Amino acid sequence: MDYQKFLSTRSKARNPSAIRALMPHMNNKEMLSLGAGQPNPETFPYASMSVTLKSGETITFDEDLFKRSLSYDLTSGLPHLNQWLRELQIKEHAPPCKEFDLTIGPGSQDLLTKALEMFAEPGSALLVEEPTYTGALSFLETQPVDLVPVSTDAKGIDPEDLDKILTNWPESNPSGKKDQARPQVLYTVPVGGNPTGVSSTLERKKRMYEVCQKHDIIIIEDDPYYYLQFNTPRTPSYFSMDVDGRVLRMDSMSKILSSGIRIGWVSGPKVLIERMNMHTMVTNLQPAGVPQLMAYGLLSQWGHDGFFKHVGNVANFYRERRDLFVECMNRHLKGLAEWCVPDSGMFCWIRLLGGITDSNELILQKAVKKFVLAVPGVAFMPLKNETPCVRVSYSCIEKDQMDEALHRLATVIREESEA
Ligand code: PMP
Repeated sequence: MDYQKFLSTRSKARNPSAIRALMPHMNNKEMLSLGAGQPNPETFPYASMSVTLKSGETITFDEDLFKRSLSYDLTSGLPHLNQWLRELQIKEHAPPCKEFDLTIGPGSQDLLTKALEMFAEPGSALLVEEPTYTGALSFLETQPVDLVPVSTDAKGIDPEDLDKILTNWPESNPSGKKDQARPQVLYTVPVGGNPTGVSSTLERKKRMYEVCQKHDIIIIEDDPYYYLQFNTPRTPSYFSMDVDGRVLRMDSMSKILSSGIRIGWVSGPKVLIERMNMHTMVTNLQPAGVPQLMAYGLLSQWGHDGFFKHVGNVANFYRERRDLFVECMNRHLKGLAEWCVPDSGMFCWIRLLGGITDSNELILQKAVKKFVLAVPGVAFMPLKNETPCVRVSYSCIEKDQMDEALHRLATVIREESEA
């Protein structure tokens, strides 16, 4: 594929940092380096690190690797972890494009914003699901692009709506601009959607990929809930069907190892990953070494099979909570709201009934007064149109408080619809 036409002028203008370009040579033992601006690690006070797991096992770290993790390292992350993740991608997704590249970042949010910026040419338009992840919207609001919502339903994003928008451009442009170029990039959260909890079915994904091929669209697959699918086998990713090299896939350790460890990774075409690395070179230089080592120590001890077992346990944890939560919703919200039962992740998107057209004030004012928190749907709407929907999460609420939380929410909705 020719990626140049997708890249923003700002992204194309990035050159490798002169110093960062030397990084790959620094670990070559034969090299006598006068070039590095590295502080001498002899001055660092840390001697060693060990981590105790909840299982009681202790993980100790190779002394040289620990020392290495304390210093500056490659922009694409600790090579050992990078390689481990690369093998994971091959095992899990078997990507048809063998030439893919991978880079690690401090959480997928960091990588996501770099990916979006890479395509955000001033005056252009970008496709997003409606509703979509508010963290992506908050970033996109700062970018010189117009958003084009694609509709979603209980089976995920609607490929026919995407096809219609692109076929009928510019008449379908929601901004009304007749001279704006057709969008070239789609941002999607295909599994356990934040906020909907809905995952795109395999049929939808296949059809989506076809539509993206037809209109030459790059897909940003933001998939932090991928391993939190409640049904097995897991529905294949866009990355797994990417014969053209049009998918940039974001993964995250946040929902499966730790969110504070700040580890995400992006896999996709070399040209695009290289552009993202150029961005990192001038912003945060690299992902932090110690968290990467913490992750690598555990993952290399587990092996890929141990990792799959762990993520299976995490998915079961959330499935059990989902089941309890749905029971409580059935008890309290029937007739007051509608929802799709989530098949993955930690969210549920409920549509308030009773003539309510906008959930904002109800959730931010009235529900807070009744001591129940949720997120008003407008936060997830690309064009900020009012909506009667609300995002609720069953992730952290104590199991014996789910019932009470939904009882409080039901009271607020009832009072509002009776008012
Ligand atoms: N994308 C989506 C859809 C998310 O829900 C989140 C976390 N809320 C992120 C990205 C960011 O995750 P991370 O912690 O890996 O930065």
